[in-house]
Amino acid sequence: MKLDKFPKQELTFPGPTPIQHLARLSAALGGKVQLYAKREDCNSGLAFGGNKTRKLEYIVPEAIEGGYDTLVSIGGIQSNQTRQVAAVAAHLGMKCVLVQENWVNHGDKDGVYDKVGNIELSRILGADCRLDAAGFDIGIRPSWEQAMADVEKAGGKPYPIPAGCSEHPKGGLGFVGFAEEVRQQEKESGFKFDYIVVCAVTGSTQAGMIVGFAADGRARRVIGIDASAKPDKTKDQILRIAKNTAELVELGHEITEEDVVLDTRFGGPEYGVPNEGTMEAIRLCARTEGMLTDPVYEGKSMDGMIQMVRNGEFPEGSRVLYAHWAARLR
Ligand SMILES: *Cc1c(COP(=O)(O)O)cnc(C)c1O
Repeated sequence: MKLDKFPKQELTFPGPTPIQHLARLSAALGGKVQLYAKREDCNSGLAFGGNKTRKLEYIVPEAIEGGYDTLVSIGGIQSNQTRQVAAVAAHLGMKCVLVQENWVNHGDKDGVYDKVGNIELSRILGADCRLDAAGFDIGIRPSWEQAMADVEKAGGKPYPIPAGCSEHPKGGLGFVGFAEEVRQQEKESGFKFDYIVVCAVTGSTQAGMIVGFAADGRARRVIGIDASAKPDKTKDQILRIAKNTAELVELGHEITEEDVVLDTRFGGPEYGVPNEGTMEAIRLCARTEGMLTDPVYEGKSMDGMIQMVRNGEFPEGSRVLYAHWAARLR
C-alpha cells in the first residue's frame, strides 16, 4: 500500500494518538469483551481537532501548492467539519467561507443553536459563516457553489472542501493512515484488535479505515455505526470512496460491497437527534470512564458498541477498538 507518495500537511500532533483501555466500561458490560478507545479527541491543537483534521492533512497540500487563498466548506450549523476547516484556514493564513445548513431539526427548543458551540468557535476563528435554510444532505449543494462564486467575484481563489471532506478525491487517505498507525501500535502492544467500531455519516472515515485495514484482511472487522439515519446513501458513499481510495493507494485488490459493514440499528430517529439508547450510552460511558461522547455522532456508535457487547455479538475474549472524536455538545 502506498500512502507515502501523497503530500501531507501536518495538522495533528506528531506521533500516534493514545489507545486507552476502557476497563471500567468493559467490566460494567460483563467483562467478556475488552473495549479500548483510540483517543482521536486528543489528536490536534487546532480548535479541538477531530476526524476531519486527519482528512485535511491530505487535502490542504493541493490548496497550498495551488496558491488558493480561501477554504470553502459546508456542513450543519453546529458542524465539526466547518469548525475544523476554520481552524486549519487560520493556521495556514488563509480565509474561510462556511455554508452552515439546517441539518438538525430542533424546532424552537434550542434558542441559541446558531449562536453558541461550534459556530461560535468558527466565528472566533475568523470564518465567514453563512446560514442557509437547506436541510440535511451529504451531497453537493447550490449554496456551496454560490459561496465559491462569491469568493471569485471578490477576486479571491476559493478551494472547495465538501461536506465531511468526503467527496474530495483524497478524502479517504487520512484514515488509511489511521489503520497504519493502529497496526504500528499493535506491534508495540503485542496484541491485535478483532473489531474496530466507527461512527459513519458522510463516509470517508469508515471508507479510509476499510482500505487501511483491508491491507491485513480486516476490512470487514471495521464496524460502521450509521448516524445519518439515511444509511443507503451513506453506504453507497462509503463503498464509492473506499473503491477510489483503494485505487489511489494501490491496495492491490478491489473493495466490494461485502467489505462495507454498516449497522443501521442505532442511528435513529434522524441525523442529529438522539434516541433513548444514545442518551443511555453517553451517560454510561461518561460515568464509568469520564469520557464524553455526543448526541449526534459518538453517542450513537457508543450505543451500538454497548448493545453489541450486551447481545453477545462479539465473541468472548474479543478486543474492540472504538474510534473516539471530540464531543459535539449540540
Ligand atoms: C464527521 C464526524 C463523524 C462522521 O465521519 P464521516 O467521515 O462523515 O462518516 C463522526 N464523528 C464525529 C465527531 C464527526 O465530526
